[in-house]
Amino acid sequence: MLLAVKGLQTSVGLSPRAPALPRIATMQSFDVEVRGAGIVGKSLALSLAALGLDVALRGAPASGDDVRAYALSPSSIELLRRLRVWDALAADARTAVHDIVVHGDEAGAVLEFSAWQQCVAELAVITDAGALERALGAAIGGATRVVRVDVDVDAALVAHCEGRAAATLRSLGAATTFERSDTGQRAIAARLVASLPHRHVARQWFRSPDVLALLPFDRPQRERSYALVWSLPRERAEALLALDAGAFERELAAVAGSDAGALSLASERAAWPLVVGGAAAWSGPGWVLVGDAAHVVHPLAGQGLNLGLADVAALTAVVAGREPWRAVGDERLLRRYERQRAAPTWAMRQMTDGLLRLFAASSAPIRELRNNGMGLVNRVPPLKRWLTARALDS
Ligand SMILES: Cc1cc2nc3c(=O)[nH]c(=O)nc-3n(C[C@H](O)[C@H](O)[C@H](O)COP(=O)(O)OP(=O)(O)OC[C@H]3O[C@@H](n4cnc5c(N)ncnc54)[C@H](O)[C@@H]3O)c2cc1C
Repeated sequence: MLLAVKGLQTSVGLSPRAPALPRIATMQSFDVEVRGAGIVGKSLALSLAALGLDVALRGAPASGDDVRAYALSPSSIELLRRLRVWDALAADARTAVHDIVVHGDEAGAVLEFSAWQQCVAELAVITDAGALERALGAAIGGATRVVRVDVDVDAALVAHCEGRAAATLRSLGAATTFERSDTGQRAIAARLVASLPHRHVARQWFRSPDVLALLPFDRPQRERSYALVWSLPRERAEALLALDAGAFERELAAVAGSDAGALSLASERAAWPLVVGGAAAWSGPGWVLVGDAAHVVHPLAGQGLNLGLADVAALTAVVAGREPWRAVGDERLLRRYERQRAAPTWAMRQMTDGLLRLFAASSAPIRELRNNGMGLVNRVPPLKRWLTARALDS
């Protein structure tokens, strides 16, 4: 028999010879079980606990040595601030982006976005993935209504936050179908140090079929670091991963040129297979999908986690606003959440899939069209403002 014991944060297997436990006092049922303790799962657990719900969080704590850095939108930051996590991050774990420069695959095909033009303080904040995981973990440790468990518990609602692994869960197999397609690409992530200061400029190169992003960062060196995300076909990614540091840096320089200065590796390189897709249904009686469990987008727009945190905010608002008689696992309630999130998620998927297809095509007319298109958008400030507002809004 398994008991979730609040405070002990464990599961207890009782053998016939085990001393009798005060069962009524220790056995606990929860309002919500959050399955998956990634950034989305931990944020959801904190957010629902702040409504006064008792939450069980199932999943091992992250190792915290992720080389990625996430470009977080103002809405994501607002949520993390409400959860008292954002201000707990060290200053060098979050670096503001004031400008974004996007290069096409021909000289002169450039798109520039600026916070100043958009009348906002910053376009995004690049945030250390490991530091964010640790700050959320510490907040969970101090949240009296969240209990870490390692078995399933009795709960009115199960929120699936297992990331892309949710697609393989047998318990969900009958409830929803997952459409997933392998892009045939991998993303290489690493930390870099540059010979020139980053000046808070994020840089991106769309060089068919590669997409290379340098996100300004302050770790390991203040003002001179970048987080690298380089998406490219699997074979080329594997070849690049096999190179020694010097040869890898030369390949990097061949794409990035000298705009950011000379770039040197400052961490191990890690790689992720890139799949995209989503679940046919995000909710049902007593269950709901949140974050990458519901949708996986290509990282070229840096929006996957932002979508997941927007899911957390939407689900929390729907649960907070429920009628007094409605249970937290009520299917009709959960459908409200699903309806709210369907359109923005669909739009973001179309945008990232469309960009991926557009920049993967190597035929001359399409290359010309996309490079001219970038120049055109760059010369039309209202269109640029509209595009930036959509990205800031996710
Ligand atoms: C290279 C790269 C760069 C990216 N950059 C950005 C960016 O700049 N901005 C942005 O917004 N997004 C970015 N993303 C996307 C972002 O990483 C994901 O959208 C985000 O991590 C999803 O968070 P999640 O908590 O939903 O899922 P995950 O991070 O996958 O967490 C799921 C958790 O569930 C656990 N789990 C799995 N199965 C089970 C189970 N059966 N039981 C219990 N626990 C389980 C896992 O161990 C994990 O801890 C990037 C992605 C990649 C690959």
